[in-house]
Amino acid sequence: EKFKGGLEKTRTSFSTKMNNLVKNYRKVDEDFFEELEELLISADVGVATVMDLIDVLKDEARTRNIKDTKELQSVISEKLAELLHKSEEDGSLNVQEDGLSVFLFVGVNGVGKTTTIGKLAHKFKQEGKKVVLAAGDTFRAGAIEQLDVWGERAGVDVIKHQAGSDPAAVVFDAVQSAKSRQADILLCDTAGRLQNKVNLMNELEKVKRVIQREVPSGPHEVILVLDATTGQNAMSQAKQFGQSTDVSGIALTKLDGTAKGGIVLAIRHELDIPVKLVGLGEQIDDLHEFDADTFVYGLFS
Ligand code: GDP
Repeated sequence: EKFKGGLEKTRTSFSTKMNNLVKNYRKVDEDFFEELEELLISADVGVATVMDLIDVLKDEARTRNIKDTKELQSVISEKLAELLHKSEEDGSLNVQEDGLSVFLFVGVNGVGKTTTIGKLAHKFKQEGKKVVLAAGDTFRAGAIEQLDVWGERAGVDVIKHQAGSDPAAVVFDAVQSAKSRQADILLCDTAGRLQNKVNLMNELEKVKRVIQREVPSGPHEVILVLDATTGQNAMSQAKQFGQSTDVSGIALTKLDGTAKGGIVLAIRHELDIPVKLVGLGEQIDDLHEFDADTFVYGLFS
């Protein structure tokens, strides 16, 4: 229910437009497909994804001899779900059964990285896991304090150094602390400045190497945080980060703040990175693991 509530804007916009389309165009023909194409693109679904989807739908309409748009409407959700289901099991977070799991969070400033870490810490804590946070964004003024606030809210420890210090050293300390506390999960924040991309990517690599050295099976996730309200901008950030870091999953935030939630489909379909988490609000329990069926159902119900 909370999930549905968070998708309210997208759902209302999407289903209203879809119902109107089906009402206005009763026959499945070129005109209908053209309008459907426009509708999906306006919802930020992404041109390449829309083209693929329309092709699939045309095929389906032909082979199943579907002439009525109302009948095709149910096929649309089915096919959307299929597009999202590219690979079934990689949607869940890679948590080790034994020992420490280390997750690294990357993404540009303001996308909701700190918030997502705080929410996820809470989620794991609720599951009875021991969680430690690493304040690896030593660059942005206020980032350390902000993570501290989230740590307090979630009731977990935050390992931090002074502003301006080496993020790799913070993460090194955090790994040692996590190990000595026998923690289950270590969530590492990182800087998100884009002014100097090369430096940032080098910094992320260095942090990653520290994790790999101290926890050989890690990092178990490198989560790229993207802001859904920035639409195609989020797509290009994903491509940029994807090129320089091995991103294992995406956390898509602020889906509650946009009517263009179709961006999830674009990201899921056009990038080879699974969406693992979605942010649907500013509160501590507004983070959900992404489930394709729930999402598509949420859009069409
Ligand atoms: P960071 O710079 O990437 O660490 O971003 P922050 O975590 O500081 O978040 C930036 C702003 O986005 C804050 O005001 C958050 O409350 C807000 N925010 C983060 N996630 C969500 C979300 O899922 N929904 C909404 N509505 N706001 C969010």
